[in-house]
Amino acid sequence: MKKNILIVPGDGIGQEVTEVGKSVLVKIAEKFGHEFIYDEALMGHVAIEATGNPLPDETLAKMRASDAILFGAVGHPKYDNDPTAKVRPEQGLLKMRKELGLYANLRPIKLFDELLGASSIKPEILKGSDILFFRELTGDIYFGEKGRKNDNNSAYDIAEYSRYEVERIGRKAFEAARTRGKKLCSVDKANVLETSRLWREVIQGLAVEYPDIEVEHQFVDSAAMMLIKDPRRFDVVVTANLFGDILTDEASQIAGSMGMLASASVGDSTGVYEPIHGSAHDITGKGIANPLASVLSAALLLDISFGLKEESETIIAAVDKLLKDGFRTRDIADALTPADRILNTEVAGIELLKRI
Ligand code: NAD
Repeated sequence: MKKNILIVPGDGIGQEVTEVGKSVLVKIAEKFGHEFIYDEALMGHVAIEATGNPLPDETLAKMRASDAILFGAVGHPKYDNDPTAKVRPEQGLLKMRKELGLYANLRPIKLFDELLGASSIKPEILKGSDILFFRELTGDIYFGEKGRKNDNNSAYDIAEYSRYEVERIGRKAFEAARTRGKKLCSVDKANVLETSRLWREVIQGLAVEYPDIEVEHQFVDSAAMMLIKDPRRFDVVVTANLFGDILTDEASQIAGSMGMLASASVGDSTGVYEPIHGSAHDITGKGIANPLASVLSAALLLDISFGLKEESETIIAAVDKLLKDGFRTRDIADALTPADRILNTEVAGIELLKRI
């Protein structure tokens, strides 16, 4: 198979982990006889520094022209600590999602058995957890009108959803539930928010078309509690942009670390595959970032954008083997991990490639 893959490392540890993600794609192409052609583009703080724009036109053009995108993360402390900054790395992220029509963000939360001890949640509660989140990605409070009023003394962000927006992500989630445990949990705040009432109405309407799927509706506050009380009760979860952002970070604890979770953003055109974590300024440059979320993002890319199931599973099996062999990056190591099994980013990548 011949495909064009755009690598967009972004900022901070995005640069460090995406290098490992790409090396895995290179190895897979070699092993299975594919021809992947790579290009690279700037986004985030590095793009602002180079061009003044967090998502330069050149990057967007390369994104549209590629078959899939392996993305790192964007963000820099300079902007986090300056709420008045007019140009910000995250603007690039939101613009990319809007421009590429990436309305569905898939986040598989699966715990590798070897990491049962790495989570702060008790192993007996976690064992067997396997959740697939569908977070809506191009609507909600993130994209509505926002501003200041009353002489800069109040601020507002407007949340808005259309039936169409809820239906298209809802349908994807129902279809995915059909290929899994046939359970769907729709998370909203329909007791308070009008957007949530519309959300629930649309999901209830879709449920009639999927009588084989067991559907439940949960309020986001209750879902947040249930996720750590009894994660195994969830199969597919579908929710709005803001709720999904928060719940999936919470759910990362089920997988042991932010450094283990991959995501796929798909929709109208090229799919974007990225770790759920950010640019992690606190560990940038130390070489200790866990590259496995980027590696698992590469596995999702092969599966979802190219339909290469065996290649994707080969990567997941290699991650499993690495962990079974006792290797850990610092974020997933525990008190019992021998010092010689704690790897830095680069060596974790090298050890992983040996297992593909
Ligand atoms: P973060 O995900 O970058 O980090 C949260 C914590 O998890 C940190 O302690 C970090 O060290 C740790 N962590 C994250 N990824 C790790 C990995 N691969 N290996 C080991 N430890 C890891 O979130 P944050 O600190 O809230 O944000 C930092 C910056 O990232 C901010 O500028 C934020 O805007 C940006 N951000 C970007 C994205 C994105 O590009 N999609 C997502 C979230 C945050």
